[in-house]
Amino acid sequence: MISGRKSIPKAVKETLRSEVGFGCPIKGCGNPYLEYHHFDPPVNIMPHNEPKGMIALCAQHHKKADGGAYTVEQLHELKKDKTNAALVKGNLDWLRKDLLAVVGGNFYYETPRIITIDGIDLVSLKRDENGYLRLNINMLSLESKERIIIKDSSWENVGSPLDLRSPPQGKELEIKYTNGDFLYLRFVELESFEQAIGRYRTDIFESISFPITAVEVNMTIAGTNIELTPSTSTLGGIQITGCLSSNCGGGVMIEDSGFSWKQNPIWKRKGLVTEIEGSNLIKVNFKGR
Ligand SMILES: [Zn+2]
Repeated sequence: MISGRKSIPKAVKETLRSEVGFGCPIKGCGNPYLEYHHFDPPVNIMPHNEPKGMIALCAQHHKKADGGAYTVEQLHELKKDKTNAALVKGNLDWLRKDLLAVVGGNFYYETPRIITIDGIDLVSLKRDENGYLRLNINMLSLESKERIIIKDSSWENVGSPLDLRSPPQGKELEIKYTNGDFLYLRFVELESFEQAIGRYRTDIFESISFPITAVEVNMTIAGTNIELTPSTSTLGGIQITGCLSSNCGGGVMIEDSGFSWKQNPIWKRKGLVTEIEGSNLIKVNFKGR
């Protein structure tokens, strides 16, 4: 790092990510693992963190930009370019055969269906043919808009988030929507039982062998009483904290929540459905299947 320049403020990073629609703006890229490039002026001329002279790029295109591949003029144009937003998707690496899921302040080990609401697996793990555990998240919403889907550790369908933070190391993923819907996940290596106690302030995982990788999941479904914070799961009228489900088929199951889930509406399935402007009717082409 160039001396004299302070680390980039969070708000500046957020602005730069949002400008490019949360994906690298170079033609055909759309990579969501973004870094931040200083170009006007370059930091070797003057250290700064002025968002006007900075752009979010993926690591590969950041290197190319450092090498001079794009003119200052081109970079100013690319800053305004959200066309790659539709390409934004990623993979959660961190494939492990053994995982401790820490979901809303509770612990799940060898428990594939972690939280199920109205028959939908909100958070679950599925073992693939090579024995690796793959994370699945169906983010519920009361808004009929797209919400992120994580299927077998690959994520897509992010819609139009307020912010999407996906640092290049791939340890974390955070997504916020304007109505307050929120998802955060992080992978953490727990080297020892003592380290786990230090992190989670409980010794409930005596039956688990360390080292182990933990995947921490927090979520808010706006307008409902469903919230998974780092310390507690609020699910309707109940609160659960610091419990361990080990070797259970299912963790928490809620039926008849009374909410009508509207995320990822059917008319988003392109080709099958035509939306009729100015009305609530949609026309479905069943022959298109
Ligand atoms: Zn790129």
